[in-house]
Amino acid sequence: PGSSVGFIGLGNMGGPMAVNLLNKGHSIVVYDVSEEAMKRLEDEGACAASSPSEVASKVDRIISMLPNSQHVRSCYAGDKGVFQTIQPGTLILDSSTIDPTVSKEMAGLAGKKGAVFMDAPVSGGVNAAKGGTLTFMVGGEEKEFEAAKVLLSAMGKNIVYCGEVGNGQAVKICNNMLLAITMIGTAETMNLGMRLGLEPKLMASIINTATGRCWASELYNPVPGVLENVPSSNNYQGGFGTALMVKDLGLAQAAATDTQSPTPLGSLSHQIYRLMCNSGLAEKDFSSIFLLLQEQNK
Ligand code: NAD
Repeated sequence: PGSSVGFIGLGNMGGPMAVNLLNKGHSIVVYDVSEEAMKRLEDEGACAASSPSEVASKVDRIISMLPNSQHVRSCYAGDKGVFQTIQPGTLILDSSTIDPTVSKEMAGLAGKKGAVFMDAPVSGGVNAAKGGTLTFMVGGEEKEFEAAKVLLSAMGKNIVYCGEVGNGQAVKICNNMLLAITMIGTAETMNLGMRLGLEPKLMASIINTATGRCWASELYNPVPGVLENVPSSNNYQGGFGTALMVKDLGLAQAAATDTQSPTPLGSLSHQIYRLMCNSGLAEKDFSSIFLLLQEQNK
């Protein structure tokens, strides 16, 4: 024990992030509830554990990449959770996007065990996870940031200190609210252009040198065939699931309510992505908003 890194949650993001750790020479101990996800990492050379507490008993640094606040709570504070066996001095970096108040709660519990919990959510999507070019937004005690940065550099390009624990989540939630809005805007714009008879690739190329340019139009276009290697060109599989986007927009709306901040477009986006979930698109990438708009044209 001592030199290995624990990795919990090996999905669309966690899977490739863990592979990057392996490729940078770290030995890793992994856990996921999905056997399929575990098998993929074992095939790459990771060591399998049967629970989060077993992971914690074998390592002194833990990274987690789980869907939501409930998963993070049970992974750390539940039966067979990390806090059952954690060793004093362990550094925890949670990269899931969750409620900042849950990050604070986990940091408090970790502190009681002599361990350090930092929130380190990411921006960049699946291709950045694969390429090791993620942005990490890190919250927690500043004196721990250097150690966090060393580890996160194996998976990301920009590692940014954001202040106290929970602040990484705060930035992340704000960013995703904007992403949610710009993706809907891109999809409805592309759809309108196509119905005016424009060829989608030409339209995107012009937008991307004009003032409508944004990440969704340039690097994650929601129209199939405009870009290769994005979910829209792969039947909207992989990528960032609509249900996860709804979760992030819910976090943004809770934060907006807390702080009495007006977020009219964020609020409308939340409802639109919820409608998508009820239209069978919950597990598809969130850029499948394009399908919803197309459907309504029929
Ligand atoms: P995912 O659903 O693909 O993966 C989550 C993994 O966690 C799955 O393999 C699942 O089996 C596993 N899991 C669930 N409960 C578990 C538990 N109790 N113990 C162990 N493993 C468990 O999700 P993802 O797309 O990898 O996203 C993970 C987090 O990263 C989310 O909070 C998401 O909002 C955030 N995020 C995703 C993206 C993206 O583009 N996909 C980008 C930035 C941030």
